Amino acid sequence: MTLKVGQLEAQPGEHVFGYLKTAASRSGLSPDFPIHLFAGAEPGPTMLVQGAIHGGEIIGSIAILNFIGKLDPKTLRGNVIAVPVVNRVGFELGERGSRLDGKDMSRLFPGKKNGSVTDQAAYVYFEEVIRQANVMVDFHAGARTAYERYVLFSAEADPNNLTELEKMRRKLVVAFGLDQAAFFPPGTFGNNSAKEAIDGAGVAQITLEFGGGTGWFKNGADNVRDAERGIWNILKSMRIIDGAFEADGDLCTVYNAGVVIWKPDVDGLFVRLKAFRDELKAGDVYGQLLDPYTGDVLADMKTPKDGIVIPSGQEWPTVGATSIGILGTIDRVEDRRTADLYVY
Ligand SMILES: [Zn+2]
Repeated sequence: MTLKVGQLEAQPGEHVFGYLKTAASRSGLSPDFPIHLFAGAEPGPTMLVQGAIHGGEIIGSIAILNFIGKLDPKTLRGNVIAVPVVNRVGFELGERGSRLDGKDMSRLFPGKKNGSVTDQAAYVYFEEVIRQANVMVDFHAGARTAYERYVLFSAEADPNNLTELEKMRRKLVVAFGLDQAAFFPPGTFGNNSAKEAIDGAGVAQITLEFGGGTGWFKNGADNVRDAERGIWNILKSMRIIDGAFEADGDLCTVYNAGVVIWKPDVDGLFVRLKAFRDELKAGDVYGQLLDPYTGDVLADMKTPKDGIVIPSGQEWPTVGATSIGILGTIDRVEDRRTADLYVY
């Protein structure tokens, strides 16, 4: 079957690259989307993999480029849509949103036909790209000052009575291959109507919070490798390709990430005193904010509740960030040796 996104078209067995036209700013700048289409030789479901919808979060971009360099559409039962950089304006400036109108596209879906440039771009992307996907793999990272390594997915309305989409998502979370995953209880970071719109379109979405920060130099190559490994695992889970799953290990710990340590309204040098997986009691000091010139302690940052530190949080100099660290309780531990990892 022909794979068609906007004006771009790929015939079965073909790889096509082009820019999906969107809206233009008032002076005519147009942040068109760079899109790779891989139309499988045989029919099947469609995976969308995207990077840098937040322009400074680029690990997915590198992993996606490595992935598409090896992907042969003639071997696929289904399709792949790959977008290495969704937010080109933010990418150029190393920023989360778009300076054209100050908006964060990841929060705008399903977009607006007649809004500002990012509203309109979100509309085109949602209609032309996201709606075509059965599964969406969305890469984020810690940008310059934070480090993260877990699969994020939306909280389930009723964990004892899962929808088909939620069941699928649970499998994708484990299939991706990291040893940790998390969901935020509703309202932790405000409501996210964009995720609801994507769910409403019947697209099973997982988000990767993966890499970034000063850890780039220590773990960057490993994270890029494991990010790419995860993309291949999702193709296997969808039966678009065959092959064994590869992962960090047999177990995937799923956290209910309900404890956020917020930064006080002063800036400074953040020093973390706790490590990933440390267990904290309410009131324990997680880290300190120091005056970067005198070393004076400006604030002790304490956890408001008991929890385990999940791999997410600020690493070093921290100016402006609002959340410093995330703690959670273990919701469940999935065992890859016995889990069904296939969504089709
Ligand atoms: Zn992000």
